Order: sequence, then structure tokens, then C-alpha cells
Amino acid sequence: MPDVNQLDILAIAAHPDDAEITCGGLLIKMAELGRKTGVLDLARGEMGTFGDHTDRVAEATAAAGILDLTWREQLGLPDSAIEYNQENKLKIAAVIRGTRPELIILPHWEQRHPDHLACTRLAYDACFLAGLKKIDIEGEPFRPRKIIYVTYFRNTDYSFLVDISDQFEKKSEAVAAYKSQFENPGNAKKIFRPGVDVFEFMRARARQLGTLVGVTYAEAFTVKEHMLLDDPQKMPVQSI
Ligand SMILES: [Zn+2]
Repeated sequence: MPDVNQLDILAIAAHPDDAEITCGGLLIKMAELGRKTGVLDLARGEMGTFGDHTDRVAEATAAAGILDLTWREQLGLPDSAIEYNQENKLKIAAVIRGTRPELIILPHWEQRHPDHLACTRLAYDACFLAGLKKIDIEGEPFRPRKIIYVTYFRNTDYSFLVDISDQFEKKSEAVAAYKSQFENPGNAKKIFRPGVDVFEFMRARARQLGTLVGVTYAEAFTVKEHMLLDDPQKMPVQSI
């Protein structure tokens, strides 16, 4: 079980390196602000073509150090076979009770990979279940206040973007820590998307998102509820 009583932010992802690629910049930025950040990987990535179980665990630990995470664990659900069921919801709910994060980061709810879809559905339900007093889960009832969804691979539906210009290089370093996947350029092009170098892709993507809001590099997120502002005159990003 988690050995922290209180995280500020917890990202829940299906596979090791998912959080690094989709929201690594935000996690680094929040750690720089003194926030306690964490990542829960549901699977260990053992179905990947390259690297064995030991490699993947060591790489996730190295990446956690670069992201300056306070906490990281791998739930050990079967890679490429993560099931949307009550047992898995309760396992994640127990982690939420143990780490008590105010903010949760989940994959977007529309997904191509079945593990990513199962991850976001399981974790959303777990946030709800963790707050129920009578449910049979270890720990005190707790429900995160806010859920944001990474919108990294989508071209619409952004609720907000985060400037990661000062964190981008470190984010790339964290992804590079997955040496079994990305150190050999030939292998790397087979893993992420056929023929696509993950580092080139990340730079182009972050730059493209950055141009939308007038910064060098950005990451994109979505919330399901509305945003509330006190002073519209201070909204960043010029209209014309
Ligand atoms: Zn993944």
C-alpha cells in the first residue's frame, strides 16, 4: 500500500511511460511548485515487444526520479488485458484512499487502445467508490475534488493548456529513461506508432499545442464540468 498520507496530484495510467508522454510536463511543473505528485501504472508493460519485466520496473523507477515524483506504484494488472470489473475498481479505490490526492489525472474517455479505455473507466469509478463509507475498502473514505483528462492525442475538446516550455526537456529525459523501448531508434519507431520517433513526435506535438496559446511547448487537458472565473479581464491568451 502507498506509504504517503497525502498526495496533491495523482496520475493514473494504463502502462509505464503513458503518464510521462501525456502529462509529464505538468507533473514536473507541479513538483517544481512543491506539490506532491504521484503516478499509478495499472500494468507493468510486460507485453511490449522489447524489454523484460525487470527492465520495465527499473525504467519506471528511473523515470519517476526524473519527474521528481513523491510516489509511484504499479498495480500489476495484466498488460493488454486490463478488465473493467469491480475487483479492479476496488484495487484502485484503495490506492486513492491511501494516497488521498486532491487532483486526479486520467486518460481521455475516448480511446483506441482497450487498456486506456479500461483505465479511465476503472479510475473514474474508483474515485467515486473511494468516497463511499460503507464499501469494503481499506482506509478512510476519500474522494478527489477534481478530475482532469489528458487530451494529448486529440485535436479538439481542450478545456485548458499548460505551458511546459521550461519542463519539456526534462519530460523528454523521463521518456528516454525507458531505454528498452526508446534507446534504439529502430526499435523506438516500432513501439509508439509505426515509423514514428517518439521524441520527434513529442516535440512537434508540444510545439503545436504551444502555438495555440502563444508559448513554446504545451500540454492539453479537458474537464467535464465548466470552469469558473472571478475576473475575465485577467484571462491569459490574446483573442486577436
Ligand atoms: Zn499505454
